[in-house]
Amino acid sequence: MTRLWNEPSAFADEMIDGFVAANGRYVRRVPGGVVRSTVVPDGQVAVVIGGGSGHYPAFGGLVGQGLAHGAAMGNLFASPSTQQVQSVANAAHRGGGVFFSYGNYAGDVLNFDAAQDRLRAEGIACATVTVTDDISSASIEERHKRRGIAGDLTVFRIAAAAAEAGYDLGEVERVARLANDRTRSFGVAFTGCTLPGAEQPLFSVPEGRMAVGLGIHGEPGIDETDVPTADELAELLTGRLLAELPDGIDSADGQKLVPILNGLGAVKYEELFVVYRRVAALLQEAGVEVLDPHVGEYCTSFDMAGTSLTLFWLDDELERLWDTPVDTPAYRRGSVVAAAQDERAASVEDTAAIPAASAESRALAPVAARAVAAASEIVDAHVDELGRLDQIAGDGDHGIGMQRGARAARAAAQRAAELGAGVGTVLAHAGDAWSDRAGGTSGALWGVILRSIGETIGDDDAPDAIGVAAGVAAAARGVTDYGKAEVGDKTMVDALVPFSTELTIAADSGASLAHAWAAAAEAATRAAAATAELLPRMGRARPHAEKSLGTPDPGAHSLALIATAIGELLAESTGAPDAADASATPESTERN
Ligand code: ADP
Ligand code: MG
Repeated sequence: MTRLWNEPSAFADEMIDGFVAANGRYVRRVPGGVVRSTVVPDGQVAVVIGGGSGHYPAFGGLVGQGLAHGAAMGNLFASPSTQQVQSVANAAHRGGGVFFSYGNYAGDVLNFDAAQDRLRAEGIACATVTVTDDISSASIEERHKRRGIAGDLTVFRIAAAAAEAGYDLGEVERVARLANDRTRSFGVAFTGCTLPGAEQPLFSVPEGRMAVGLGIHGEPGIDETDVPTADELAELLTGRLLAELPDGIDSADGQKLVPILNGLGAVKYEELFVVYRRVAALLQEAGVEVLDPHVGEYCTSFDMAGTSLTLFWLDDELERLWDTPVDTPAYRRGSVVAAAQDERAASVEDTAAIPAASAESRALAPVAARAVAAASEIVDAHVDELGRLDQIAGDGDHGIGMQRGARAARAAAQRAAELGAGVGTVLAHAGDAWSDRAGGTSGALWGVILRSIGETIGDDDAPDAIGVAAGVAAAARGVTDYGKAEVGDKTMVDALVPFSTELTIAADSGASLAHAWAAAAEAATRAAAATAELLPRMGRARPHAEKSLGTPDPGAHSLALIATAIGELLAESTGAPDAADASATPESTERN
C-alpha cells in the first residue's frame, strides 16, 4: 500500500510539483498539467495526452521531445477537467492544431471533448483518437467501447513521431487511428491498489487468485483463476492476443510487432523478465518478427500487482515512425538532437472576470451561493454512501469526487457573490470550479449543469420558477448532449430529466419556485430509486452491468439528494410550507 503522503487530498498536486521540480529539463507546469519546456517549431501539430494521476509514467512522464507536447493531469484516477485540458492544449499549441489522445474512459471523453469544442470555438483545429487497446473490456464488435491501458504508449508515440515529421493534423489523426487499430492488450491482476490515505484497497483479489481482464482502476475482471506459473501467464496473455489479430492481418506468421510487457506497479522487473522469456518464445513460435521489445512500467495503477501484454502490429509506415528518437522524463529511445529550452513564461492564468449584473440579480446571488453550499453539505453527509454505491460496478470514487467538486463550487460561488456577481455568474463560476476540482464523469456533468443554469438565468433578471425551470431544462439538454446518455441508461440523466420535466410542469401551472422545486425533487428521488432495476449502458459501470442490478445509480442518487436539500433550503428561505399551500409564493429576496 502507499505510505508516504502529507494531505491525501493534496497528493496529486504535490506529486506534480515534485515531478516538475525534478524534470525541468523536459517539462514546465501550466494550469492543468505540464507542457514541454523545450522549443517546439511553429506550425507543428501539438500532441496533448492526459488522464487521471496515479498511472506514472502516464501521463506527465511521457511529455518531451519525440513524444507528447503536453499532458493534462487530473486528480488521482479522475479525469482532468475541461478547463485543465483546454489550458494545457492552449499552452502546447503552436499554430498547427491540437491532436488529443487518451485512454477511452467516460470522464476523459467528456472533458476532452468539451475542451475540444471550446478550442474549436476559439478557432483552433482539433482532432482526437481515443485509445481502445484492452480486448477484455468489450467484444470485437463493440471495439469502440474498449478502454485504454498500456497501449496508450504506441498511439501517443506514433502520433508524436508523425507530428515531429511534419504531418498535418489530419495525417496525424490517420496514423494514430491506424496505430490504435493495430494495438491490442490483455491484462491480469493479483492485488488491488490503495490510494494515498485510503484504509482499504480500491478492490481486492482473493489470496492465491488472479483476476483476468481487470481494469487499471479496479474495474472488475471478466474471470478469476488460481495464480498461474510465470510460463502459464505468458501463455494466457500471448494466446489471447494472438487469437485476435487486427483487421488486415490473416496470420501472425511473418508479421512485425512490438511487444510491451507492462507492470502495473507492484510486480518486479525480475518477475516480468521471467514472464517475458516465455512470451518471446511463443511469439517466435508464431513466426512473428519481434522489434524493440518493451518490458517495464509504462502505465501503472499505483501499487496494483498486475501485468498486461500489448502487441503493436507494425506496417512500414508505423515502423518508420516508431523508429524515431524520444527523450522524456520516463521514456527514452535513440538519441534526439536536444532542442533549446523555451524561455517564454507560462501562459498567464485567466482570473475569471465578474460581469456587471442588475441589482435584482445581485440581491439573489447569496441565495444561489447558499444553494450550492447546501449541495456541498448534503454530499459531505453522504460521501461514504456514494462511494459504496459507485464501488459496486464503478470505481468507488463518486463520493470523494462529488465532495471535492461541491466544496470547490461552494467556495467559488461564495467568492463570486462577495465580488458582486449576479446569480448567473455565481452559478457559472460554481460549475467551473466543480468540474475543475472534481474530475471524473460526474464532475464534468455537474459543471455543465451549473453552468447551463447560470447562463440561462443570466445576470439581469431575478429568476422566477419559470426562469429556473428553463435553466434546469437547459442543464438536462447540456448533460445529454455531452454525455450522450438517455433516460434508461442508468445514469444521473434518469433523475435529472424527470426533475426537469416536473419542475417545468409545476412552474408552468403557476406554482412558486419552492413548491415547484419540492415536487420536482420528489420526482427525482423516485426516479433515482427506480434506477436500481436498470442495467447501466453508459460510463464505467457498463462492463459490469449485472453487478449493479438492485443498486441505484450513484450519480442519480446524489442528484436526488442535492435536489432535495436545495428544495428544503428554498422552502425555508421563502417560508413556503411543504403542504400544497399556494398562498405563500413570495419570490422576493428580503431574506438572504
Ligand atoms: P467516474 O465514472 O468518472 O468515476 P463518478 O464516479 O463521479 O465518475 O460518477 C459516476 C456517475 O456518473 C454514474 O453513476 C452516472 O450517474 C454518471 N455518468 C456516467 N456516465 C454518464 C453519462 N455518459 N451521462 C450521464 N451521466 C453519466
Ligand atoms: Mg466513479
